[in-house]
Amino acid sequence: MNRTVDWAKLRADFPILDQKVHGKPLIYFDNAATSQKPRAVIQALVNYYERDNANVHRGIHELSMRATTAFEAARARTAKFINARSADEIIWTHGTTEGINLVASTWGAKHLQPGDVILLTEAEHHSNIVPWQLLAQRTGAKVAYIPVTGDEGTLDLSKLDSLLTSQVKLLSLVHISNSMGVVNPVAELCARARKLGIVTLVDGAQSAGHMPVDVQAIGCDFFAFSGHKICGPTGIGALYGRQEIMEKLPPYQGGGEMILTVGYDKTEFKSAPHRFEAGTPDISGPIGLHTAMDYLDAIGRDNIWKHDQELANYAYDQLAALQNIRLFGPKTGRAGLVSFLLKDVHAHDVVTLADQGGVALRGGHHCTQPLMHKLGVESTARASFYFYNTKAEVDRFVEVVKEIQKFFGG
Ligand code: PMP
Repeated sequence: MNRTVDWAKLRADFPILDQKVHGKPLIYFDNAATSQKPRAVIQALVNYYERDNANVHRGIHELSMRATTAFEAARARTAKFINARSADEIIWTHGTTEGINLVASTWGAKHLQPGDVILLTEAEHHSNIVPWQLLAQRTGAKVAYIPVTGDEGTLDLSKLDSLLTSQVKLLSLVHISNSMGVVNPVAELCARARKLGIVTLVDGAQSAGHMPVDVQAIGCDFFAFSGHKICGPTGIGALYGRQEIMEKLPPYQGGGEMILTVGYDKTEFKSAPHRFEAGTPDISGPIGLHTAMDYLDAIGRDNIWKHDQELANYAYDQLAALQNIRLFGPKTGRAGLVSFLLKDVHAHDVVTLADQGGVALRGGHHCTQPLMHKLGVESTARASFYFYNTKAEVDRFVEVVKEIQKFFGG
């Protein structure tokens, strides 16, 4: 898309950004944790609760039909957002974490035997490690990891051939690493796995709202993402599952909505995706998410991706020019975030002092504790960007980092 985007105009769509914290203009650089919400998304929630609120799929009264239509329209919109073939391939979840847990519970329980291997990477978020460890404990399977190459955090693919043994049944990996900003070659890896009959899951928490995503081009079997990171409400996410796989999976949770008939001894279940959605779902969540997806695609995720990368490179180059700083993630091709450590300064101190300057960063292990241990650090400070951030904000952030260094005598 060759349109120029009026980024400053878009920024005005986010009321929360127009405020001071500690007397300084807010610079929100914690977008990898959660994004802010444009007025259109907030208004979609208000409209739903003021006009259409009712339970879905049950009533045949006007409000229930409106709610059901909007709820299912959001599912179709989500399919389009990631280029799934059909809305039936979209399951509503609370977010990426629940999507991965759903696959571990349903696909994992059905397919894994003792001795089977679940292959992950060393840069996974805890939500793409812990569910598999729990599953391994239940089934006798093992978890193995594709290594990363030191501070750059890119995958060491020289080890891949030896790791792709006939025991590997699942490859689950992150699309964009939340602590390093690495963009993994997911299409290439899924193609290699698929040739060997290995099922694939891509954690799209950091990619779905930041770059064009096409699950058919990636060639994965499952793709999980969270609404709150892509301008949508908290508590809603989606799991894509390839129809051929989903149709054969057992239910996730039991309850109302997911059944065809229930007897005292036996239940018949609905087909996918409804079989995986027990009980009254989050209804306003998908409706808000629908608006968020429309909002992002009106900007163009290709434009957002360029803007993200521009800010990240701009920030990285300025930080790299400082003394006594350790930078993480790749030098080129990074996604919209920068992870760093100042010599002899704890990441939490960096974040606390940055906050005093109005800059919202994140400090900690970023739910990638095993990776932090591998790199020999406890934590990093992270600035993560979105399309409403500006170069002027990056300049101010770099100034604040320099002030922190001065404060600590660096
Ligand atoms: N994977 C990655 C790469 C993430 O960045 C996150 C959120 N930080 C998650 C998974 C989990 O997402 P959620 O908490 O929305 O379920």
